[in-house]
Amino acid sequence: MIYYKTSEEIEGIRKSCLLVSRTLAEVAKIIRPGTSTLKIDKLVEEFIRDHGAIPSFLGYRDFPNAACVSVNDAVVHGIPANYELKEGDIVSVDCGATLGGYVGDSAFTFAVGEISDDKRRLLEVTRESLNKAIEAAKVGNRLGDISYAVQEHVERNGYSVVRELVGHGVGKSLHEDPEVPNYGKRGHGLKLQDGLVIAIEPMVNMGRKEVFTADDNWTVYTRDRKPSAHFEHTVAVRKSGPDVLTTFKFIEEEVFGMAV
Ligand code: MG
Ligand code: MG
Repeated sequence: MIYYKTSEEIEGIRKSCLLVSRTLAEVAKIIRPGTSTLKIDKLVEEFIRDHGAIPSFLGYRDFPNAACVSVNDAVVHGIPANYELKEGDIVSVDCGATLGGYVGDSAFTFAVGEISDDKRRLLEVTRESLNKAIEAAKVGNRLGDISYAVQEHVERNGYSVVRELVGHGVGKSLHEDPEVPNYGKRGHGLKLQDGLVIAIEPMVNMGRKEVFTADDNWTVYTRDRKPSAHFEHTVAVRKSGPDVLTTFKFIEEEVFGMAV
């Protein structure tokens, strides 16, 4: 069942989303060769708790950590561990915060030092596909328009879209209806209405679309072991247009010293 949010509820979700966005900017500060994925997780948990919120992922279906940290060919749901980031890695950090009963959810894929042109392009295209999906998240459109926007952009650039994992409704719970696939048909599916809040999260593979889940029962890897990227925003569909509740501007300020 889809739960449409009031303006008041959306403002509550926005607060959680801002905290998640600031958390990812804290992460940006420590992304460098030698940083362990567990250190990223500790920072995420501390920063969220220091701001009076609860890490939404911790304990969710028994997930053991506050952040999903997925390096290179790990698509999503990487369990933080002793692995130390290396120059040239890409690392997706995904986290959620629950504040005042509302959940915010966002993910960003960081470059560790200098990365290859191939990986740089993968990050760009994935992020562009998220932006195109957000543009499609407007009243009167359908869910398929969002899904199509991602798939069309990704495949036009020679990459592939993961099928097994999808975006989702978000707000009172981390995962609500509806599912938001990153592939689909224009003009199909649920009609988008004012008050729908969804996490849009393209997961884009440089090679083939097939993935598998590791023996840890969480980490999803590309089958061809080529890199994968993941960017996520929480977005409210409003009569006035899409309202992006999370933001990457704090990360950009950390990385480039300016908002982009
Ligand atoms: Mg997420
Ligand atoms: Mg999500």
